[in-house]
Order: sequence, then structure tokens, then C-alpha cells
Amino acid sequence: MLTDTHTHLYSDAFDEDRKQMMKRAIDAGIERFFIPAIDSDYTAKMYELEKTYPDHVFLMMGLHPTSVKENYEEELAHVEEQFKKRTFYAVGEIGIDLHWDTSTLGIQQDAFKRQIQLAKKYKLPIVIHCREAFDEVFEVLESEKGADLFGIFHCFTGTKEQAEKAISYNMKLGIGGVVTFKNGKIDQFLNEIDLKHIVLETDSPYLSPTPHRGKRNESSYLSLICRKVAEIYDVSEKEIATVTTQNSKEIFSI
Ligand SMILES: [Zn+2]
Repeated sequence: MLTDTHTHLYSDAFDEDRKQMMKRAIDAGIERFFIPAIDSDYTAKMYELEKTYPDHVFLMMGLHPTSVKENYEEELAHVEEQFKKRTFYAVGEIGIDLHWDTSTLGIQQDAFKRQIQLAKKYKLPIVIHCREAFDEVFEVLESEKGADLFGIFHCFTGTKEQAEKAISYNMKLGIGGVVTFKNGKIDQFLNEIDLKHIVLETDSPYLSPTPHRGKRNESSYLSLICRKVAEIYDVSEKEIATVTTQNSKEIFSI
């Protein structure tokens, strides 16, 4: 059994063939899907997905850093309202993204910090999105560190030093399609990181692994990521599946 710890299955990219796509994934042994939020535009679609696949789909709630704009107070209020209504498995995805817009750094930091505090209030993990913003993300984590701060550094693509730093804040590393890329770099040192710190993810519909790079990603491709990680650690795919699923259970408590 494999666990996709980060997959946007409610994305418009799957509107045409969601049922078949889900079947391909479940047939490939991917049985647990953790679903990160983006913003209020997708909340209804996330609930619908959960209703269709109640045994497989586990929802997170949060405001994605690229959706932190002038109306972010309203968006954060929407997030908090959802938490009052029902159960989620993480606050995510949250963090800082300086690739698309650096002018919102101040409000991105504010939204990130406040959502970490929300996670602590509900004793939940956080799922971090970090793009071109390692220093900025670590600064916030440093100010919030403690036993009640834990989660996943999603789509980890940093250096070995950055991996160790993320782990020091009780973060697991979310390993996805980038590990299969020729210039992905993380394959160079990953086996020096204990497997207990690793979880697998696709980030569908983004970041397809080789040989689907550049095309739509889907959760069934998690097996390609698992295969590559098994090669890097020189252990069986079965062991990678078992250990990373166990790690995901520790993080999400399910
Ligand atoms: Zn994502």
C-alpha cells in the first residue's frame, strides 16, 4: 500500500476523467490520498471529492501562499470557519512562495504564522509549500518551533543542509517527481537522510515524474516515485511503501 501525501485530486485538470484517474491510482496500490487546500474557490469541490471517496480521501484545510492577496483576511476567516465545522488532517498547504510575487512577502509571512498557530490550536500537522523562500520559511519556523510544531516540508527540493534543518523542526520531507529528474539534485544525497523522515507525494496535477515530465501528473504515478526512491536507498519498493506509509500515519494520525 502506498500513500500519496499531497495530491490535488479536485483540480479542474481531472474534471474530464476523474473516475478513471482514481481507479488507475487505486489499482496501482495507492490507497490513501491527502488533499491540500488552495483557497475558498475549491472548498466545495474538496468536500465533493471526499463524499465520493470517503475511505481513500483525507482533507487538509489552509490558504496557499500564492492565494495570499489583498483579501487574505477573508480567506483566513474562511479557513478558520471550516475548522470550526469539521475535522481535517492537516493545515495546508501553507508557506511562502517568492517565485510568482515578492510584493506579498509581508502578508504571506503573516498568513503562514497565523495558520501555524491554528494548527497548534487543533494539534494538527502543517504542510509547507516553499518556493524560492527557504530563508523566509525557516525564519517563521524558528519563531514557532517546539514540540507542537510538526508536519511535512512538501515537494522538498533543497540541499542536504536544508533537509537537515527542516527535519530539526519536526518536518518530514515530501519527496515527489523531482527525485526522478536528471537535474533534480536531491537524488544525490537523499540516501544520507534516514528513511523515517521521508514521505511520498505526487503534487498532482503538477510535477509529473519521468517519463511523464511536463505532462499532467496523477496519483497512479506515485509508483514511479516509489521505484526511484527504492533505487536511491537500495532497498525494495515494498519497504519504501511500508515505511513511508507508516511515516504518513505518524504525521496525520490516521
Ligand atoms: Zn500542492
